Amino acid sequence: MNCQSSEELQQLVDQAKSYTKKGKVADYIPALQLADADKLSVAVYYPDGTCASAGDIHENFTLQSISKVLVLALVLMDRGEADVFSRVGKEPTGDPFNSIAKLETNKPSKPLNPMINAGALAVTHRIVGGTVHERLERLLAFVRQLADNDDIYYNEEIARSEYETADLNRSLCFFLRQHNVIDEDIEQLIDLYTKQCAIEMNCRDLARIGCVLALDGRDPKTNEQLLPARVARICKTFMVTCGMYNASGAFAIKVGIPAKSGVAGGIMGALPHQFGIGVCGPALDEKGNSIAGMKLLEMMSEKYGLSMF
Ligand code: GLN
Repeated sequence: MNCQSSEELQQLVDQAKSYTKKGKVADYIPALQLADADKLSVAVYYPDGTCASAGDIHENFTLQSISKVLVLALVLMDRGEADVFSRVGKEPTGDPFNSIAKLETNKPSKPLNPMINAGALAVTHRIVGGTVHERLERLLAFVRQLADNDDIYYNEEIARSEYETADLNRSLCFFLRQHNVIDEDIEQLIDLYTKQCAIEMNCRDLARIGCVLALDGRDPKTNEQLLPARVARICKTFMVTCGMYNASGAFAIKVGIPAKSGVAGGIMGALPHQFGIGVCGPALDEKGNSIAGMKLLEMMSEKYGLSMF
C-alpha cells in the first residue's frame, strides 16, 4: 500500500468532499455549530515520521469522543485493568453514544464499555490528581507526548458551551453515583469531562497518536514505549468493537481499520504496524460520525487494500 503521496490523498479528499453536503454539524453543543460543514482533511502518519496530508490540514478541531481512547489509556496505566473493568464492561451496546437505557437493564449496573458517554465518565472519574486542573494537566501532558506537540490545549469556549448544556451527561453521572460506579462531585466530573472533550488538535497530531497506537505504544521518533503494548491493544480492540458508536460493525466490514470518532467530525485510525490516520470533516451522519470522513476512509481502504480482516 502506498498513500504516502499527498497528491493521491488530495484526489480522494476531492471525491469524498461532496458527501459533506449529506450531513450536518453537531448542534447539541452550541459552540460546535460554528464549524464549517464543507471542510474535509486527512493526514497519514508513518512509523518513519513522514506524514502525507490533504485538505484543510492546519485547522484545529476538538477531540470530543476520541478523547475517550486517550483517557482510557492513561487510566489503565495509572490504575490497572482490574480497577477500570470493575466499573465498565467490554461489550458494544448497539445504542447511541449518549444513551442511558442499558444502565438500568444491564446487571450489575455499570456502563457496557468505555467508548459510550456513561463508560467514559466512569473512566474520567479515575484520572489521578487532586484538582480538575491537576487531572487535566496530566491528561494534556500525556496527549502532548503522544502527538509530539507541546502546544496542545483545550478550547475553553467549546468546553464551556458543553458544560452549560450537559444535562444528559449529568444524568448519567447521577445514575452512576447511585450505583457506586463513581463517588465524585458531579459538577467537578462534568467540568473535567467537558474540558477533556474540548482538547484541540489538527489531523497531523491525531494521525501521530494513531501511529503510536498502531506501533503498540512505541514513539515513532524516539522508540520510547509511551504506553504498554497491552494498553495499546485494549484501546485498538475497543476502537474496532465500539469506536464508531452503533455503526462500528458496518465500519469494520467496510473499512477494517480500528478507528474512533468524535462529534466535532474527527476520526482517528490506527492500522496495526502500518500507520496512523487523522481525519476531520464536521458534517455528521445521523449516528454522529463524520459523513465524508467515513466515505474517505472507505475509499482509502478500497484503493489501498487496507482492511486488517
Ligand atoms: N462531548 C461529547 C458528549 O459527551 C462527546 C460525544 C461524542 O463525540 N460522541 O456528548
